[in-house]
Amino acid sequence: MPELPAAEKAAHRTVKYEYPSEHMGEACGDCKHVIEKGSSPRCETVANPIFLTGWCVRYARKEKKK
Ligand code: SF4
Repeated sequence: MPELPAAEKAAHRTVKYEYPSEHMGEACGDCKHVIEKGSSPRCETVANPIFLTGWCVRYARKEKKK
């Protein structure tokens, strides 16, 4: 999924963003929507800032590279 423009990203409250993640074994760092380019991580669909140890309801585990 391409990254949405900043103005179209979801607010943290809308997606129940948690920092740190309270969902054991699930966090932005292993979500398929995280973008780890540049100095701080971003999410394709959720407003900045996000952290690799956060979580939201849009979490979807990245497929493991084979
Ligand atoms: S858990 Fe939510 S905020 Fe974090 S990378 Fe995935 S979709 Fe984005």
